[in-house]
Amino acid sequence: MSGTPDAIPRHVDRGEMIKRLRRETFDLVVIGGGITGAWIARDAVLRGLTVALVEKGDFASGTSSRSSRLVHGGLRYLRHRHISLVRESLRERGLLLQLAPHIVRPIPFLIPVYEGDRDSPLLLRIGLTGYDLLAGSRRIGWHRTRSRTQVMKEEPAIRSEGLHSGLFYFDAVTNDSRLTLAVMLGAIESGAAAANYVEAVSWESAGGRVAGVNCQDSLTGESFTLRARAVAGAAGPWTDELRAMVGDAPVLRPTKGIHVVVPRERLRTESIVAFFWEGRPFFAVPAGRHTYVGTTDTDWTGDPGEALATAEDVSSVLAAVNASFETALEMADVTATWAGVRPLIAEEGSPAPSDVSRDYEILEGPAGVYAICGGKLTSARSMAQALVDRISEKERGRLSGRVGRCRTNRVLLPGATAGFEGYRRQSVHALQRGSDLTDEVAGHLIGTYGTRHADILCDAATDESLLGPVAAGSPVICAEAAYAVANEMAVKLEDFMWRRSDLMLFGSGVDRAAAARVAGVLGRSLGWDEARARDEVDAYMREAEGMLSFRQPVPGVAAATDK
Ligand code: FAD
Repeated sequence: MSGTPDAIPRHVDRGEMIKRLRRETFDLVVIGGGITGAWIARDAVLRGLTVALVEKGDFASGTSSRSSRLVHGGLRYLRHRHISLVRESLRERGLLLQLAPHIVRPIPFLIPVYEGDRDSPLLLRIGLTGYDLLAGSRRIGWHRTRSRTQVMKEEPAIRSEGLHSGLFYFDAVTNDSRLTLAVMLGAIESGAAAANYVEAVSWESAGGRVAGVNCQDSLTGESFTLRARAVAGAAGPWTDELRAMVGDAPVLRPTKGIHVVVPRERLRTESIVAFFWEGRPFFAVPAGRHTYVGTTDTDWTGDPGEALATAEDVSSVLAAVNASFETALEMADVTATWAGVRPLIAEEGSPAPSDVSRDYEILEGPAGVYAICGGKLTSARSMAQALVDRISEKERGRLSGRVGRCRTNRVLLPGATAGFEGYRRQSVHALQRGSDLTDEVAGHLIGTYGTRHADILCDAATDESLLGPVAAGSPVICAEAAYAVANEMAVKLEDFMWRRSDLMLFGSGVDRAAAARVAGVLGRSLGWDEARARDEVDAYMREAEGMLSFRQPVPGVAAATDK
């Protein structure tokens, strides 16, 4: 493993990026700034290609900020005998734990076993032994069986009636948006030109090949053409829309999944509890002062950007929790929700949504045009590797230079360091010695930014107010908002509240005062006047209230497009 050179300037200027996009000719233009597009850009630039990436919303604003946040092999895919998918995902899990130990961390999972369950304890033990063996040397730890009494002691919230025993095994958990952002920043620091809020609207061709992509900057309204030798579409659930631009047929079967967030005191688990209800798998995931639960899996035909949790979705998740835990959760307990659309590939026949394969596919369009979709957050790095391999081979001689070998499996992501646990302990102590930061804030800064945590505090050296919390009860401090503008291309309030921090999901949520405080900090760096700051707060509040619209369903929204 080698590190990202920390000497590289980290300031990321969107204006400069747009100038480069307009000026240069790129070997590869990537469309889509989710996890897949980010890894493609990082892979290609590390191999020596000139690379551009455009994202029509914010980075990770598609499915990559709406997942269950698990970095996992996918134990349940063993039931479908998708052995190679599980093996690949377990390898990727191991790599991500090394490449981004500040954002991806191992965590125990519990499967409670009840009398009369479809899967006997023996069958589960055989499955978990296979899972552990498939992970090989990248195994986090061996699974273990626990008696009913031990399970009740370790996870007292789970339903006790009929409990037989439990199996603990290991996988990992992450912050999907920040993982995507880390990969994107890594690509930019290695030389890629990338910009959010730039939409690819049509293609340019010359001599029977793709020659460029016509783009629109939605912040300025300006249009320009990106000159490209090859194009890779990584548009997730928008893949069919992108393919339609060149006349290619649809390939997707999108499905929607939702999560609900409740305060930790209403549903307390120490590990991630994996449970089945009405034949569907659910996970209850501890996240700081909250627990989130998901997910559902229903066919989706609308705009992926408009998927919301409906009243029916939320009540089905709450029913699953109340049947599986000693809880009586109600709609009013839900403090946030999120909904995402899986970019799954349509299969022959009509399997149930949750049985559609999570494998990916590389598609070739007109000369020089490629697309990739399907897969998982966990396996996006290897998907990108396969795509860049394909492009290097097919486009040999047309690209600007010799294409090197894939290095994304070896180069650490920004903020990562080897021996992270030791680093974390030392840094928390050092931070507390030199400041008044609480344990929780220090742990949050190091667990979010890794080796770059000290940069957050630089601005606060001249303005102590930046050390203050953004919202009561949240470890997020105002200095992070200033940092996000200068170094992480945050240009809207929502970019920070949802994807640079978790505030919208696990923090202040629908809180106008906190939103206004952050708008004040962002506005100082972005030059917003009062009216602009107010517009940003209004837009954010509409988004945040949308998460809770299941309480008062809005006619025509979301439910209309659920099949
Ligand atoms: P996206 O993240 O959707 O990115 C595509 C991007 O392309 C979007 O940001 C979009 O704005 C942009 N775009 C589209 N059209 C254009 C255009 N014309 N111009 C510019 N930009 C454009 N995987 C796991 O490994 N673990 C999990 O726990 C997990 N849980 C999940 C739970 C749910 C409910 C869902 C829905 C998915 C889950 N997944 C999980 C799968 C994983 O989230 C997705 O496979 C992954 O995020 C897809 O990333 P992507 O980059 O392909 O798509």
